[in-house]
Amino acid sequence: MSVLHDGYFTEGLDADPELAAALRGELERQQDGIELIASENLVSRLVLEAQGSVMTNKTVEGFAYARYYGGAEFADAVEALALDRVKRLFGCRYANVQAHSGSNANNGVFLGLLAIGDVVLSMKTSAGGHISHGHPATLTGRDYRIVHYGVSRETERVDLAEVRALALEHRPKIIVAGGSAYAWTLDFAGFRAIADEVGAWLMVDMAHFAGLVAAGVYPDPFPHAHVVTSTTNKSLRGARGAMALWNDETLSDRINYGIFPGVQGSVMLHVVAGKAACFGEALRPEFKAYNVAAVANARALADTLAAAGVRLVGGGTDTSMVLVDLVNQGIDGDVAAKALESAGLAANKNLIPFDPRPAEAPSGLRLSSNAGTTRGFGVDEFRRIGDWIAAAVTAPSDAAALAAIRDEVRTLCRAFPIYG
Ligand SMILES: *Cc1c(COP(=O)(O)O)cnc(C)c1O
Repeated sequence: MSVLHDGYFTEGLDADPELAAALRGELERQQDGIELIASENLVSRLVLEAQGSVMTNKTVEGFAYARYYGGAEFADAVEALALDRVKRLFGCRYANVQAHSGSNANNGVFLGLLAIGDVVLSMKTSAGGHISHGHPATLTGRDYRIVHYGVSRETERVDLAEVRALALEHRPKIIVAGGSAYAWTLDFAGFRAIADEVGAWLMVDMAHFAGLVAAGVYPDPFPHAHVVTSTTNKSLRGARGAMALWNDETLSDRINYGIFPGVQGSVMLHVVAGKAACFGEALRPEFKAYNVAAVANARALADTLAAAGVRLVGGGTDTSMVLVDLVNQGIDGDVAAKALESAGLAANKNLIPFDPRPAEAPSGLRLSSNAGTTRGFGVDEFRRIGDWIAAAVTAPSDAAALAAIRDEVRTLCRAFPIYG
């Protein structure tokens, strides 16, 4: 039942050479390149095997021990294990581990708690917010009235005075804290005080810092948040999916039914098995050490870039994420990401606060230590990565220099194999 065999794939794949070629290619790309995209990580073999397991054959609807279909005893055991572990990990009373993705978790919570036209106050995307927090192109942007807060121009951090003023003016039903491109801690107690003042629920979307919260190296959203949503595949280093957590029993039916049948149907049990696996891993002391290292590595990366004259949004990081401002380099994030890719470094272009450029070619570059730390890179390796990035964004069309970095990246990666 193993997905991996000697670090590669089982014989089952021989039946489909075209697919096998693409999967092998992807394994080699991950092995020989440096992954700096913050929404990615390198999961354990256990998580891979759980997601590739026979649970993919089983269909269930409903919740553990309350299913519509029969034959669910092991399905129930898997979901109950994931629920028990995630509640212990984050110290909360209730959880839903069925959301297929972070966007679905947010859509489900909104559907359960809001009526069409209700007001949501969330972070704007240029300041780091996620599109599922009300971008006009999404369901949330269509069904609810969205008001956005940003960051202060001087500090490039959330200004709770702005959040409070907007809350008092627009009376939101939900205030969302947390985003996709924000490298700083958030004051959850401060957010909650504002939510209480206007009678709103506080929803924390911890997709990017869930692993740090689990490890105790980021402020805990509980007891302040009414609901916490998160993906499980970023800093939490697990299955590709999401969850919702809460403490108040009176919210349980609204959140659970908002997710199912509100926004999705039957459960992806193989993914729930992968979530159970990663929650189990995150409960172990090694996971704390991993996250402590990820933050130290991101700091080393940030310090190296700053010393090379590359400006960082907000001047650095509290987390495993670093947001680069390329305005001084005179290039956009699209050019930078393509130069890095040809040097074997995968990163994504990103909007920065008050970005003068459009989202397709924004001024920023988002970096993360998540995946590199998983494969064993420490601060020395991240300083080298910082030097390579600084060189690539300074001379993005110097093909010979990028090729030379590509060789060094490959040599480094071979010393840190990802699956044995
Ligand atoms: C990644 C992310 C999501 C959504 O993730 P998908 O699984 O891609 O839908 C939601 N919220 C935040 C803050 C994220 O960073």
